[in-house]
Parts: sequence; structure tokens; C-alpha cells
Amino acid sequence: MNEQSTSHLLPTYARVDLAFERGEGVWLFTASGERYLDFTSGVAVNALGHAHPQLVAAISEQVRKLSHVSNLYRIPEAERLAARLCAASFADFVFFANSGAEAMECAIKTARKYHAANGAPERYRIVTFEGAFHGRTLATLAAGGQKKYLDGFGPVVDGFDQVPFGDIEAAKNAIGPATAAILIEPIMGEGGVRVVAPEFLRALRELCDRHGLLLVFDEVQTGMGRTGELFAYQHSGVAPDIMALAKALGGGFPVGACLATAAAAKGMTAGTHGSTFGGNPLAMAAGNAVLDVMLADGFFERVKRVALLLKQKLASIKDRYPSVIAEVRGEGLLLGLRAVVPSGELVDALRAQKLITAAAGDNVVRLLPPLIVAEAEISDAVRCIERACEELAKHHRPVAQGGA
Ligand SMILES: *Cc1c(COP(=O)(O)O)cnc(C)c1O
Repeated sequence: MNEQSTSHLLPTYARVDLAFERGEGVWLFTASGERYLDFTSGVAVNALGHAHPQLVAAISEQVRKLSHVSNLYRIPEAERLAARLCAASFADFVFFANSGAEAMECAIKTARKYHAANGAPERYRIVTFEGAFHGRTLATLAAGGQKKYLDGFGPVVDGFDQVPFGDIEAAKNAIGPATAAILIEPIMGEGGVRVVAPEFLRALRELCDRHGLLLVFDEVQTGMGRTGELFAYQHSGVAPDIMALAKALGGGFPVGACLATAAAAKGMTAGTHGSTFGGNPLAMAAGNAVLDVMLADGFFERVKRVALLLKQKLASIKDRYPSVIAEVRGEGLLLGLRAVVPSGELVDALRAQKLITAAAGDNVVRLLPPLIVAEAEISDAVRCIERACEELAKHHRPVAQGGA
């Protein structure tokens, strides 16, 4: 009997029967010493790769001093991280949580409370987009609106109006007297690396300004350098009023954050929200160390350079293996291969080549390497992808294009 079948873990995940013992940079090692190239980064979490010396040192140093004190007291490490996140973004205030879903809960509450504080508590509804993913709490599931995740969990939390992805007319029509905000991921991650056009974000910004709504960006996956800028919204020049971060913010240590302008945060006064663990000194040491690395000179230029290299090589693979890959999409190091074969088959074939990737919606395979990936490691990954495509192409013949 294998260990999996005797596991006492609640079986909510369809896990691959593979365990890693340690990691170093972009590499993961099993207990028997097998080496895998990690192009998943713990689903966009390990932006600095595994066991990054600066992150290890910062966490080690902090854990010896102080891990946790509660939010009954001032936490200088949190004040520092909040100040740095605000200096680098549109925001004036930060609330720290422990996960993406919690950061999103705070974003939703902040948007609702803003209108209540302005004397319009009836404005609580949020317009969201089909295929979105905002987390697994009851409210964030309702925001995402995906039936497969909502089924069987009782009444869906009220207050979310879903419209088709990319449909500005539908978004307009969904706005009513009870609308509080519009919520979107600048690039839909779990939904299949679907990039939202900058013009679309601009149109949403205009809609929000015209109707007195707040614009909320879920940058839990796209934020913290993943797309080649610290935040994905910076590519479009469209700033939100509220933004959720998590995943890479702690580089592997659980940290979430909800950022807001002073105006949008108007209702979030003492006692309105809280978290026991949120923003504790240990988590904040991790967040500050991640920023130390990312804000160093040339970090994002390098990310953009290797990302362009990877994208070009993927485009060439797509051209050579049209029976396996239909499209390369994404921005920076949030890249998606829309597969012709079932995406799960491509993930398995890549893993057989010792390259680990993550499936997403829309039959897409996500490539999410650590942001510190080197050009030589991009080449290694490209060879793995070529070999996997070669294998798959043997079994999946291209559809004949007319002629004989
Ligand atoms: C992962 C993710 C979440 C949820 O984050 P958790 O830490 O799993 O709660 C929310 N929004 C987006 C866009 C995500 O990618």
C-alpha cells in the first residue's frame, strides 16, 4: 500500500505521488536525490526560488528575536513593510493577512464599508468576471462564481454580479443602485492566464469614476514581480482603489495584504477588521526580505529579459508542435501554454522530463518559474518542453489542413 492511500490528510487535493525534500533556487530534490526544474514556484509563491539566502537569513534572524506579539501592539516590521508597499504603489494603507482569500475578504469588506461610511450602506454589490478565481472562503467563492467550487456548500454569499470576461457592455449593464465596486484580476491566473487588455482596465476605471464605484484588483497571483513589474496594473497605467496581494509577498512564508487608498479605506476604523496572525514580525521579516531583493537595481529588467527569452522560445516550440500547443499567452513570467492535447497530459509529459508546471482553466498549462531563473535554466526548461512535445506529437497527429 502506498503512503497516499493511508494518509490522514483530508483528501481535498488530487495530489501527484511525488514529494520533495529540499530546494535550491529553481531546483527541487526528492529524498532519493532526483532533481526537478520548478516552473510552478508553489503556484506563484516562491518568487525568489527555494532557500534564497537573504530570505533564509531574514526569517532565521527574526525567529530568534520575536515571532508573534498580536495586533494589540505596534509592529515596527509591519509599519515598515506597509510603508514600502505604499511607496511602490497607488496605496496609502495596508492590512496584513495570511492568505490570498483573506486579503480578498478584506478588499470586499473595505469596498462595502466605504459606501456605508458615505451613507449608502445599500451599495454592497460587486461586479466580477466569469472564470475568475478569488479564493476558497464562502465570500471569495461567491465572487469567483465557479459552480464546481460552490456546489454543495449551501446558499451562495449574496452580493456578486458576474459578467462575461472582457465584456464591457455587460459590465456597464450590471451596474445598479446597489453596486459598490468592480473586481478583476489584471491577468486571470487560475482561469487560464487570460490577459485583460489595458483598454479594458481603462474602461473599467472610467465606469467606476462615473458611477462612484471602487475598482478592486486581485493581484494575489500577478503581483510581486510576476509579470515583470512589481504589480501587473503598472503595465496598464490604470490604478485601482483597492488591491489584494499574497502568494509571492512572503516568498514562501504565508503573507497576504490588502492595499487601499485613504479615500477607499475610509470606513475601516478601529475594530472593523482584524486577524490574529496577520502582520506578525516573522511574516513581516519575510515580506521585507522579498522586497529587499525585488527592489534592488535591475531586478525587474532581468525578469523582463528572461521572460522575453522564454516567450520567444515557447513561440517557436508552438510553431513546431501545432498538434500539442495552440497558443502561448501571458506577461512576464506568468506564461500559459494553451494546449491542443488535454492540459493534464501535457503537465504529466513535462513532469516525465523533470519539469514541473501547473494546469489552469481553458486547457492551459502555466509556467511560473521563480523570478530568479537564469538564462541557462530557461534553456534547460525549453529542452524539457521540446522533448515532451516530441513525445506527445507521436500520439497526437496534427489535423490535416485540406489538400490530399
Ligand atoms: C491563489 C489566488 C487566490 C487565493 O489565495 P489563497 O492564498 O489560496 O487563499 C486569490 N486570488 C487569486 C488571483 C489567486 O491566484
